[in-house]
Amino acid sequence: FSISMDHLSLDEELGRGNYGTVKKVVHRPTKVAMAMKEIRLELEDAKLRAIIMELDVLHRAVAPEIIEFYGAFFIESCVYYCMEYMDAGSLDKLQAAGVPERVLARIAASMCRGLRFLKDELNIIHRDVKPTNVLVNRKGQVKLCDFGVSGELNKSMAKTNIGCQSYMAPERIKGESRGTLAAYTVSSDVWSLGLTIIEIALGRYPYPPETYENVFAQLQAIVNGDPPELPGVVEGEDVGDVTGETNGILDGVVGEKQYTYSETARDWVAWCVRKDPERRGKYSELLEHPFLKDDRDSGVDMAGWVVKAIECKNRNALIAARAVLPQSV
Ligand code: ADP
Repeated sequence: FSISMDHLSLDEELGRGNYGTVKKVVHRPTKVAMAMKEIRLELEDAKLRAIIMELDVLHRAVAPEIIEFYGAFFIESCVYYCMEYMDAGSLDKLQAAGVPERVLARIAASMCRGLRFLKDELNIIHRDVKPTNVLVNRKGQVKLCDFGVSGELNKSMAKTNIGCQSYMAPERIKGESRGTLAAYTVSSDVWSLGLTIIEIALGRYPYPPETYENVFAQLQAIVNGDPPELPGVVEGEDVGDVTGETNGILDGVVGEKQYTYSETARDWVAWCVRKDPERRGKYSELLEHPFLKDDRDSGVDMAGWVVKAIECKNRNALIAARAVLPQSV
């Protein structure tokens, strides 16, 4: 079916990105709930029309690990993009709950399968792998969104994509600082995949907080520093509560829990974030690694984890809201 604004009822706002908002909508003729992303671009109609045409290949991107695309249209200088609604949102908001190793493996395996599908079936490199682009639902499914299918859209969006935390591979940062747009290869996505998995496991962006506000320091750390790692058990060190239960109130945040990960998991991640792109794993190799090989049979209760993670997110939101209210209320 083709989609236009006339057929949509607007519902709540789901989030905000650099280019506009994402809203929940209902497509009235089919009663399908969707997520509609608004991308504000100052472009003439011909360019906007070209973008809508380029987005059409998304109708072929049908795989269990890829967000379904329903259609796109433009009004004035905004592109509207309608996709499958994911009722648990993006991973960045769920990671505070703590991520046990088998859950981490399911997330990593889903991302790997999704990225391999895009590459092998559609010859698409994602270009923007990060926790906000990994969506989850209450069924426990993990799916990728926001991949670079439209050259025209990539061009218009790239210019404003600065000042946020960088998931860019070191070779890309080096290329861009020399003014040569480094060829984006599939191994640059593998770096971002590794960094995403580390962030989800740590519950925060893996580079030191002092680089968060300083883009230059952050890029330097990525290019010249040691690659980040998954937290592991250091011999003789007290690793704290690893029972999977939440710790109660910790600095006002409920459910924060630091898991540690096996050597197998740490080895897999290290294979993604090698400085030399040639030495990073390929998707098929990464899926054959002992960390992911038996993921499909692991029986991990993803749906159960998602429910807990949403509860934790809601509790934290409540605590944050209370903190800004005057004491007397
Ligand atoms: P970013 O530019 O940071 O990737 P987006 O504009 O893509 O942000 O999305 C903003 C937020 O909207 C996401 O972090 C996510 O929480 C929410 N969101 C995006 N797409 C969907 C979807 N299909 N279903 C549910 N929530 C979504």
